[in-house]
Amino acid sequence: MELDNTRLPAFRHIEVDHIEPAIDTLLTDNRAAIAARLQTGEPYTWENILYPLEDLQDRLNRAWSPVRHLHGVADNDALRRVYNACLVKLSDYATEVGQNEGLYRAYNYVKEHGEYERLGHAERTIIDNALRDFRLSGIALNPADKDRFKQIKQALSQLQTQFEEHVLDATQAWKKPITDVQRLSGLPDSAVRLARQTARREGLTGWVFTLDFPSYMPVMTYADDRDLRFELYQAYVTRASDQGPMAGKWDNTEVMAEILRLRQELGKLLGFAHYADYSLATKMARDSAQVIEFLGDLARRSRPVAERELAELKAFAAHQYGIKELEAWDIPYYSEKLRQHHYAISQEELRLYFPAPRVVQGLFAVVRRLYGLRIERWTGVETWHPEVEFYALYDAANSLRGLFYLDLYARPHKRGGAWMDECIVRKRTATGIQHPVAYLTCNLTPPVGEDPSLLTHKEVITLFHEFGHGLHHLLTLVDYPSVAGINGVPWDAVELPSQFMENWCWEREALDLISGHYQTGEPISSTLLERMLAAKNFQSGMQMVRQLEFALFDFRLHSLPGTTEGPAIQRLLDEVRAEVAVVKPPTFNRFQHSFGHIFAGGYAAGYYSYKWAEVLAADAFSRFLECGIFDRESGVAFLHSILEPGGSRDPMELFTAFRGREPRIEPLLRHSGILA
Ligand code: ZN
Repeated sequence: MELDNTRLPAFRHIEVDHIEPAIDTLLTDNRAAIAARLQTGEPYTWENILYPLEDLQDRLNRAWSPVRHLHGVADNDALRRVYNACLVKLSDYATEVGQNEGLYRAYNYVKEHGEYERLGHAERTIIDNALRDFRLSGIALNPADKDRFKQIKQALSQLQTQFEEHVLDATQAWKKPITDVQRLSGLPDSAVRLARQTARREGLTGWVFTLDFPSYMPVMTYADDRDLRFELYQAYVTRASDQGPMAGKWDNTEVMAEILRLRQELGKLLGFAHYADYSLATKMARDSAQVIEFLGDLARRSRPVAERELAELKAFAAHQYGIKELEAWDIPYYSEKLRQHHYAISQEELRLYFPAPRVVQGLFAVVRRLYGLRIERWTGVETWHPEVEFYALYDAANSLRGLFYLDLYARPHKRGGAWMDECIVRKRTATGIQHPVAYLTCNLTPPVGEDPSLLTHKEVITLFHEFGHGLHHLLTLVDYPSVAGINGVPWDAVELPSQFMENWCWEREALDLISGHYQTGEPISSTLLERMLAAKNFQSGMQMVRQLEFALFDFRLHSLPGTTEGPAIQRLLDEVRAEVAVVKPPTFNRFQHSFGHIFAGGYAAGYYSYKWAEVLAADAFSRFLECGIFDRESGVAFLHSILEPGGSRDPMELFTAFRGREPRIEPLLRHSGILA
């Protein structure tokens, strides 16, 4: 082991009672250190104030990261209490630093007094990002506007919470009890069992369906009973609105109008034309025109394909099932029938070829061939669970670049989903390099008995995706934590390395490394692979225009200069649908009233990011389609141009350095079968 100054957390020795006092001490020390640095009376420089801030923040992150991680993977009541208590303190501290006028002056001073010019890229990006974030938090406003800014922020946070609560209440309030077994026809066993369990919990006989996704989706996809599908569909798409079975209850109409009005005011207060421009201030996309043009271009080219797919679906439903009018509540159902008709492919069949240990070793082999990386398992490192493995990652020159924990399987007290999180961020210190350390967390099916865990192809993709984030974090060569790895990378660009990695899950040469029948070791047959590839792009045009409808609606909504009353929102959505959608929802549809991504979450004027990042990833990968999917020169170029610089440079500059030009949308269209 060669760890230099990277000290790993002692997971088995973290005492819950000691966490809060330790965080308190760090926060007190940090506050005192910042105040002292601001009061020395010396002219501000990178070395005497900005760099020390990096250090203070890093110390805090290193103390907090293992706690945040344990809260995610080994939760218990005592830890949760401490976690929440600390979270409030940390968020107060972050707000305080973000609004500290002394610090704002210090950054400005360093930027304007010659010092900036002699600094490197990473340092300059840190200064520019900080000044931008200070401005976006209203620091440069006059006192009256500053007050108003705070009021708006508070009101927005309350309204967004209210929006979310309305959706949650409406989702939970509606239930569909069923006692006639006939009505369950077509549903898979798992869905029926879930409905039975819900009924029991409610003290009812029979089955109960709800608007929770795991209950709702199987009904829409598999239930033969068309009336049942209609009832669930109507209840689902009218949640928290003026329509449907709960009309007027938890109605979000006013909440949405007020959120939009306040966001407009906030954007204007900070000097932007509208909220969309405010959102773009921290993103890779240049301006509103570029986003609108980008989405419009994708829509123009995808819509004819989506129209053909819908026509095929209609013809299939008419000929095979006698359906004259294909309604919104029929689409997932007949789509599933059509998919089976064409491909008859099941995730269960594929599982046999993806035993987890083989997939993990294969993944390591893929990055070895691409980047020359060597990954070595270390035993004896202290972790939070015996299942967790620990690895060290070496580059082609055999230098240690980073370390990671791999926690693959689902178990009690572990949060669902998959994610990469930072344990330690790379930093140059007086005595050497602090190596980056990552947590890679998945919730794969655990091994049963003698058999290894068998993964679905979807799970394999998830693992590759998170590993892509992990490489971004681990392979950075930036010396300052706030722009090392994924830090400082704009929201619409941060999914590039992760989505990029997913591509290898669809290539024969890579599949040979990551798969093999768990008993015989046999590779996936070419007919199975063909079906798998064909099924991948099933209805991709329809999916594309649906995402574009959401993205365009979101972006144009936040670019509106005028009123945003309820009817105006609906009018805009209707307009967008007329332009891009192929499936026209019924007039009672109030999808927007539960569109939490943009009204309650962080995707306001940012929903386009999903597509933006997909375009980057597909275009980056297209270089490998041209040069060979294991072309080392391209791999090394990706490493140097994208992964190593992390957040220290403008992402468009990085992408252009890798691809030799700005991103194009054709590779995504080709990759999803929209372009032949
Ligand atoms: Zn991701």
